[in-house]
Amino acid sequence: MSRRTVTILWVRRDFRLSDNPALIAAVEEGIVIPLFIWDDSSSMAQDSGARSKSWLHHSLEHFSLSLGKLGSRLLVRRGTYMRVLREVILETGAQSVYWNRLLEPEEIALGGHVRETLEDAGFECKVFDSHYLVTPWQHFTKQGEPYKVFTPFWKAALQADFYYPPLAAPQKIKSPAFWPKSAPLKDLQLEQPDDADWIVEGGWNPGETGAFSNLSSFLDGQVQRYKQKRNRPDLDLTSMLSPHLHFGEITPRSVLFSLLHTMEAGHPAEFDEETGTFVAQLGWREFASYLLYHFPHTRTEPLRSEFQAMEWVNDPDAFDLVRMANTGYPIVDAGIRQLNATGWMHNRVRMIVASFLTKDLMIHWREGAAWFMEKLVDADCANNILGWQWTAGCGADAAPYFRIFNPVRQGESYDPDGIYVKRWLPELKDLPSNYIHHPWDAPDDLLKKAGVVLGSTYPERIIDHNEARIRALAAYDQIRISKPA
Ligand SMILES: Cc1cc2nc3c(=O)[nH]c(=O)nc-3n(C[C@H](O)[C@H](O)[C@H](O)COP(=O)(O)OP(=O)(O)OC[C@H]3O[C@@H](n4cnc5c(N)ncnc54)[C@H](O)[C@@H]3O)c2cc1C
Repeated sequence: MSRRTVTILWVRRDFRLSDNPALIAAVEEGIVIPLFIWDDSSSMAQDSGARSKSWLHHSLEHFSLSLGKLGSRLLVRRGTYMRVLREVILETGAQSVYWNRLLEPEEIALGGHVRETLEDAGFECKVFDSHYLVTPWQHFTKQGEPYKVFTPFWKAALQADFYYPPLAAPQKIKSPAFWPKSAPLKDLQLEQPDDADWIVEGGWNPGETGAFSNLSSFLDGQVQRYKQKRNRPDLDLTSMLSPHLHFGEITPRSVLFSLLHTMEAGHPAEFDEETGTFVAQLGWREFASYLLYHFPHTRTEPLRSEFQAMEWVNDPDAFDLVRMANTGYPIVDAGIRQLNATGWMHNRVRMIVASFLTKDLMIHWREGAAWFMEKLVDADCANNILGWQWTAGCGADAAPYFRIFNPVRQGESYDPDGIYVKRWLPELKDLPSNYIHHPWDAPDDLLKKAGVVLGSTYPERIIDHNEARIRALAAYDQIRISKPA
């Protein structure tokens, strides 16, 4: 085997063949060794929740099959990154290591360390960008500061030069004469006992094929109603691309170009409002990663420093009731049932649940964020932090502190017929729609007819929203008062 032509493709979180710049560059060089490393001490291993791990397992399985069809393989090893990379370099005679960059603070540090160590030892490293449309070091305000408000950030980003088409998948990948040993996927112990249940319940298909299939259903009739209906959890109108984007099974560029093609547009500026609104959601994903890049402390601390003084409530019992979907507020409980059953929750309901936890119960947003990271299939550090800090009011462009979602009004506005609630809370299915979001107001005979016994077949409210609202406003006022002049 010629030393010159062997490149290790360090597969980090890009389980796809299409629009994969590191893969294409490695293929152009000659022989490619795709390598996935599971390092138990890494933040990827330590911070991944159960659902995320099992998605990873299925995604690796799918990617391995895709590589097989092109005459290649996915080499899987368990061990520390540097040790495994050194081993595989020695075993294959590789001289180069290529990868696509990840932007979470720990991943940046890891990439930097690997690059420095390998380059010092005389190996070539090439790093590519593909997880996002724009890179976070591209855009700043006129004062040279990072943006903290979405609209100007996205306006600036849309001017950037990212309108080049995604890269085609390679037709073939050159393999070495002898493959180094690979660990069986099951040795990584990523699969969970309840995998089959939530994958079926969520209709998930981890991997690149599933990503493109979700995209094509979305383009075929859903995107056209996106702006109008995206907030309706009863309608299943969003793209369900979040886990696929997180695991790099599809790139935002592929999504954007499919949209441009479907809409026969040359530039997002030509999109109609429905499509433009969807692209702006991709923009929020860009913004989340941009913020985490510039303000890495927000992983655990609020972006708005006055929130350091906030007196959160430590109430493990109430938090347990939330996690068990026993709050007594149907829209909140339905969302949590959806999360528990499928690993996903509709965005509007995520906001309602996050507002309930951080404002009604005043439980620290960090606890909510950790809970979501454990349960979500699309668990994504940047998006999750943005979502929780936005809702709690302590992040960039955040919901104002006085905006406390009323779970009854939210349910009535976004699930007007109670279809979503009834889907996830069948114990309320016979309750008339006009009481579905506040069963405690229903007359006794109606509850009886619907087979609902509050406190028995369905819980009583764990807190009165109106009282909770007053308490939250007082606490939020307190930190405004304690803010330095
Ligand atoms: C409290 C809270 C926690 C969240 N945690 C996560 C998380 O861990 N992982 C995650 O991917 N998203 C998270 N979100 C954002 C959002 O809820 C999901 O991205 C969305 O529901 C995924 O469904 P979809 O793919 O059908 O979205 P679509 O509406 O079809 O949007 C397309 C894509 O745009 C991106 N996107 C959409 N909305 C947002 C948003 N508000 N912020 C950032 N990116 C967005 C996602 O990548 C999504 O797949 C969170 C939101 C909140 C309020």
